[in-house]
Amino acid sequence: MKYKWLPVFDVNNCSGCRACMPYCASGSLNIEDGVVSFKNPEACLSDERCVQECPVGGIHMEWLPLNSASHLGSWSDQKPQMQNCS
Ligand code: SF4
Repeated sequence: MKYKWLPVFDVNNCSGCRACMPYCASGSLNIEDGVVSFKNPEACLSDERCVQECPVGGIHMEWLPLNSASHLGSWSDQKPQMQNCS
């Protein structure tokens, strides 16, 4: 199993404002039923650009398991330990 550094979207707080969409260089984001949907995690560049653009703080990054032939973005063979920011 491989892990990829990917954005996670809080669909319960998403207003569907589309502010994140222009910052997704891989065009992986869409709006469906008024909330963001993440269509193509394989193509994500893991660059975190969408995170800063969300006005409701509704996007964060996590290492998530993903099977893909793509090498785009940041990958790890094991789930990295998250560092505490203190
Ligand atoms: S910027 Fe935030 S609130 Fe706006 S569509 Fe993207 S995830 Fe939803």
